[in-house]
Amino acid sequence: MKDQFGRQIRYLRISVTDRCNLRCTYCMPEEGLPWIPKAEMLNYEEIAEIVRQMADMGLERVRITGGEPLIRHDLPRLVEMIAAVDGIDDISLSTNAILLPRFAGRLRDAGLQRVNVSLDTLDKDAFVKIARRPARRFEETLIGLRAAEDAGFSPIKINCVLMRGLNDNEVPAFAQMTRRRPWHVRFIELMPVGENLHLTDRYVSTDEALERINGVGGLEPDPGPLGNGPAVYYRFPGGRGTVGVITPMSHNYCDRCNRMRLTADGRLRTCLFGDHEVDLKGPLRESGTIEAAVLEALAGKPKQHYLQIGSASGSGGLAALSQVGG
Ligand code: SAM
Ligand code: SF4
Repeated sequence: MKDQFGRQIRYLRISVTDRCNLRCTYCMPEEGLPWIPKAEMLNYEEIAEIVRQMADMGLERVRITGGEPLIRHDLPRLVEMIAAVDGIDDISLSTNAILLPRFAGRLRDAGLQRVNVSLDTLDKDAFVKIARRPARRFEETLIGLRAAEDAGFSPIKINCVLMRGLNDNEVPAFAQMTRRRPWHVRFIELMPVGENLHLTDRYVSTDEALERINGVGGLEPDPGPLGNGPAVYYRFPGGRGTVGVITPMSHNYCDRCNRMRLTADGRLRTCLFGDHEVDLKGPLRESGTIEAAVLEALAGKPKQHYLQIGSASGSGGLAALSQVGG
């Protein structure tokens, strides 16, 4: 699968639900976001069939995301179905970790290889402000992170969205954790979508975050863990984990983009932003084949995104990242 700019597409991010047990301020509005009706969502057999047909076209890697993917019923069953597809050699999950104590072991047995956990703060009061949920959810997140380690997932990546006045003061503490723990902490620049423009003043660049860390002790460039995503990594000399930065706003990495996204209701999006998408559910249900629709999507994959700090105009009418899987 190659697009018109010669980028090889091998990676599909699958959103299995747009719903979530948190309401992170940068990702979802507190209320009023319309959910995809359940009847319009792809079932697991349909998702696995899409993966099968795309694997025949060159797909190799799959990440399951959402909303919060673990609130979808019996997710390990879907993992098992995807793991059985010839050609798929890497399956990973993005999660807020709250439900990992219940599912980590079964997910691992089903063939899940890696997890990314969202953790924006090490402070429970800040968590309550950012996730708009009670402090016990913070404890559950930390317990979930431990469950991922106990189940043997490796590497464990931690995603932290930078926000001035909410968690930017914690950047050095997050970085210091990687000295002792084999965790890969990735600082992500806040991206503007329709419902989070109230956070515009909170934007912090990853360059600023790195400057703060280097005030604590020198980081050195590092190849980072397996995954070949857009993050650029560093390590403290002798550190067990790494510090990564993901820079969609300050330095876009669109020229290296190797991914497409499948929404929970079966739309294939070629860019996280922009409004280019092609329906796969219709062709799948009508003719059983999606190849032509996938080729059409590939042909329309935009060269780059046009996000701008302080404006939602580049986000293609998206109200929230939870609608497409971040
Ligand atoms: N619920 C899961 C989680 O939180 O990891 C998976 C879905 S979440 C939408 C996937 C990723 O998108 C998370 O790492 C989250 O921090 C990131 N994200 C969501 N909205 C964002 C925004 N406006 N800017 C930057 N990252 C965002
Ligand atoms: Fe939910 Fe993840 Fe979005 Fe937070 S970032 S609201 S956990 S989907």
